[in-house]
Amino acid sequence: MLSVDNLTRHFGRTAAVDRVSFSVERPAFIGIIGRSGAGKSTLLRMLNRLTDATAGEIRFEGRNVLALKGAAKRAWQSDCAMIFQQFNLVPRLDVVSNVLHGTLNRRSALATVFNLYPRADIYRAIDILDRLGIAEQAAKRAEALSGGQQQRVAIARALMQDPKIILADEPIASLDPMNAQVVMDALRRIHEEDGRMVIANLHTLDTARRYCDRVIGMRAGRMVFDGRPEQLTTGV
Ligand code: ADP
Ligand code: ADP
Repeated sequence: MLSVDNLTRHFGRTAAVDRVSFSVERPAFIGIIGRSGAGKSTLLRMLNRLTDATAGEIRFEGRNVLALKGAAKRAWQSDCAMIFQQFNLVPRLDVVSNVLHGTLNRRSALATVFNLYPRADIYRAIDILDRLGIAEQAAKRAEALSGGQQQRVAIARALMQDPKIILADEPIASLDPMNAQVVMDALRRIHEEDGRMVIANLHTLDTARRYCDRVIGMRAGRMVFDGRPEQLTTGV
């Protein structure tokens, strides 16, 4: 369903991502591991077209992802929702509005100011928050929540788009071990129950071993490992 072929991104003379190829047949939980600077973020950002590729190809269900423009590109970006290390919420905005924010590109930004969200969307947001165990926080400002709760709000915002793929860029790097586990458990459950693909940049092998079906290892832009986590014996 997803294939990446010789994907490359240069920044000046540096190849941040250097001829990376892999394909995914069915929704999997994939971890990308590697040191800081290995190219993990750049790879994820190319997948959802936040960053342009220098060369190579991405195909998803027959679509040539790198050729998508305009509305088709925006539809693709909804199909692969992204979550980030620093959550990227609007701190002073309440949790429900943050969750609905992901749908804003299709509506007016004034919806936030005047609370003009369709009621059905608000209920759906609350249902998603409930599923993630944070419905009680719905009316609070995002900044009042713990890191683990904030990351679950970001996951809820992603789920509002009903994505086929969730791209997670170091989703637990800012969290303590307990919150990290809550967030990874939530991602794993969404993967299993909804059949959504998850591709997560992770910096610890332990997390990859525990949660992923497949691990891609990167070093200096190159893919140096692709296999089951239990086959991974040394650091990448
Ligand atoms: P991470 O370690 O989480 O990948 P970085 O600090 O490397 O985060 O990157 C954060 C942001 O800065 C990203 O948007 C990335 O594209 C950009 N960035 C990273 N390295 C450079 C660089 N050498 N020059 C300019 N921008 C950079
Ligand atoms: P990782 O996510 O594994 O930490 P990145 O994808 O952030 O790695 O970065 C890979 C390489 O590309 C690094 O050398 C980084 O400095 C460089 N890089 C990333 N973004 C930029 C940017 N916007 N401008 C220049 N260099 C960048």
